[in-house]
Amino acid sequence: MKINKEASLKKFNTFNVSETANCIYEVEEIIQLKKILSDIKGQILILGGGSNVLFTKRFEGTIINLRNKGINVIRENKDSILVEVCAGENWNDFVIWAVENNYGGVENLSLIPGNVGAAPIQNIGAYGVELKDIFYSCSGIRLNSLEEFEMKKSECKFSYRNSIFKTELKDKVVITSIKLNLTKSNHHFKIAYKELKENLSNFELSLKVISDEVIKIRQSKLPDHKSIGNCGSFFKNPIINLSKLKKIKAEYPDLPSFKIDSNKYKIPAAWLIEKSGFKEKGSKNVGVYENQPLVIINRGSASGKEILDFANEIKYTIHNNFNIQLEEEVLII
Ligand SMILES: Cc1cc2nc3c(=O)[nH]c(=O)nc-3n(C[C@H](O)[C@H](O)[C@H](O)COP(=O)(O)OP(=O)(O)OC[C@H]3O[C@@H](n4cnc5c(N)ncnc54)[C@H](O)[C@@H]3O)c2cc1C
Repeated sequence: MKINKEASLKKFNTFNVSETANCIYEVEEIIQLKKILSDIKGQILILGGGSNVLFTKRFEGTIINLRNKGINVIRENKDSILVEVCAGENWNDFVIWAVENNYGGVENLSLIPGNVGAAPIQNIGAYGVELKDIFYSCSGIRLNSLEEFEMKKSECKFSYRNSIFKTELKDKVVITSIKLNLTKSNHHFKIAYKELKENLSNFELSLKVISDEVIKIRQSKLPDHKSIGNCGSFFKNPIINLSKLKKIKAEYPDLPSFKIDSNKYKIPAAWLIEKSGFKEKGSKNVGVYENQPLVIINRGSASGKEILDFANEIKYTIHNNFNIQLEEEVLII
């Protein structure tokens, strides 16, 4: 275990901002985690890869960076396998492991940054698949009582980029591992997403072919956070009702929309942001990514506060232009 007092958060967040915290514990063992949780007083933040967090000020508390490792097979038969993955595993390393072993279900989620323990928090999703599609349960510890728990999928209240861990259980638990159901045969290849469908129409499908294509598409659209600080999509795609959709479409007939049900439509926040001219706005330090305006980027030395101010300017403008309230996907601290 490593303890960093008066620590810089720069290497702990993919926005690459230089805030500080009272203390950061880098914890590899659950037994150490329990000891720290029982000793610490004050505010606690559990941190994985820091790829969905914007620090806008000093964190006056303790950060626990969970780094426990391991992938264990719980049970399997000829068609499926239940695996338990420790929270500190890198998500994409786990996807690579699954694809290499021909275990299906996570290939569309290739190259999402961050750690396994954070995957249930916002029910990570990409290219037509969400974590909930393969999720079985997660295990963890309650921060107030130190009681261990296992929560099944039905208890986690998963929805679009949301779960019980962002609502009722926000800041109340640490997830130590998750269990996922993967296929061993009769894989359900999911290529309904437009670009996947087009690019893979002449290929014989396999988990590796899909994973490679997802990686190719992601690399063409998203900045690599190792060179350009960012947290992926800053806002969720808004869901609006039919009457609002009709109203906006009357003025902007080219507004894309995806039907969820007869009265609910998801619209791309990226479109709203681009239409509001934000590709040309921003400053020397902050802006939106040219290939994907939903991604706010740190152009070098932005502070968290500068990034937040720019995000708020986007929110304000979208509300003025379209009467739509954008909601952050990223946790603001
Ligand atoms: C370039 C880029 C692309 C991205 N693309 C996608 C995408 O396609 N789809 C998508 O869904 N997301 C995407 N993201 C967002 C991000 O990668 C995911 O949300 C990821 O799951 C965050 O993992 P993390 O370990 O970095 O979490 P962190 O940023 O460290 O934490 C995020 C939240 O989870 C909590 N948390 C973390 N670990 C635990 C734990 N063990 N127990 C309890 N709480 C915990 C934190 O307190 C915080 O509230 C992208 C980000 C980047 C930078």
